[in-house]
Amino acid sequence: MYYGFDVGGTKIEFGAFNEKLERVATERVPTPTEDYQLLVDTIAGLVAKYDDEFGVQGTIGLGLPGMEDADDGTVLTVNVPSAKGKPLRADLEAKIGRSVKIENDANCFALSEAWDDALKDAPSVMGLILGTGFGGGLVYEGRIFSGRNHVAGEIGHMRLPIDAWFHLGSEKAPLLSCGCGKKGCMDNYLSGRGFELIYEHYFGEKKKAVDIINAHQAGEAKAVEHVERFMELLAICFGNIFTANDPHVVVLGGGLSNFELIYEEMPKRIPKHLLSVAKCPKIIKAKHGDSGGVRGAAFLNIK
Ligand SMILES: [Zn+2]
Repeated sequence: MYYGFDVGGTKIEFGAFNEKLERVATERVPTPTEDYQLLVDTIAGLVAKYDDEFGVQGTIGLGLPGMEDADDGTVLTVNVPSAKGKPLRADLEAKIGRSVKIENDANCFALSEAWDDALKDAPSVMGLILGTGFGGGLVYEGRIFSGRNHVAGEIGHMRLPIDAWFHLGSEKAPLLSCGCGKKGCMDNYLSGRGFELIYEHYFGEKKKAVDIINAHQAGEAKAVEHVERFMELLAICFGNIFTANDPHVVVLGGGLSNFELIYEEMPKRIPKHLLSVAKCPKIIKAKHGDSGGVRGAAFLNIK
């Protein structure tokens, strides 16, 4: 039995998966955001409960919005304050008496999609999340590649390529500040939030992404201009990202990934931003949606 935990800023989702990787249990509880001991006890309590229920000791994988410090194993996260700076893996292992794996939640998303039947023969899968933020994960041969510092796939904190800057109008382009302390991170342009910020920059009005997309579908001029600008921006950034990693398949998740036009436009627009020898990878929508985090966390212990 494989146990997965998706530890988010507001809730912890638990999932148990059998040997066929079918989900056999689900539970959601509020995340103890301030009390670290309660966080440890909550996770350990769910493990004990489902060990009892299934009569086995499941393997334990945990996804969270952040990562472990590569040298001392403490958790680097903003969204789960109780875990920040704490040796969560070591404390869980001491309490439960079993090994625990911890990964970034976007990496878990990518792993979940890569283990889908349709993709399990793909040598490399890149997951990109166009959600509240923009981030991603890389899976090579069915395993997450997280790099020296567990920051591989933190694509949102790469700065805009120079051709994107020209595309946005150089001195007329918005220079957006990022939560990481830098300026010009892709996170602030390609996320759902970025989609709205870019609209606001050029038209001086705040509008929700969903309303912009609806206006685009109705043929409203500003929305049409905005979507054209955004699609080309996305293609430029994707082209640059794919040149570094050359993934076989790219899976998109997050709210903005439901904008169907992306799947029509990217294959047409991306090739001119790649090296001439490169073909655009297959770009598809995530299959497992919101359950990707918990699935991927559970699958950390496969292989
Ligand atoms: Zn950043």
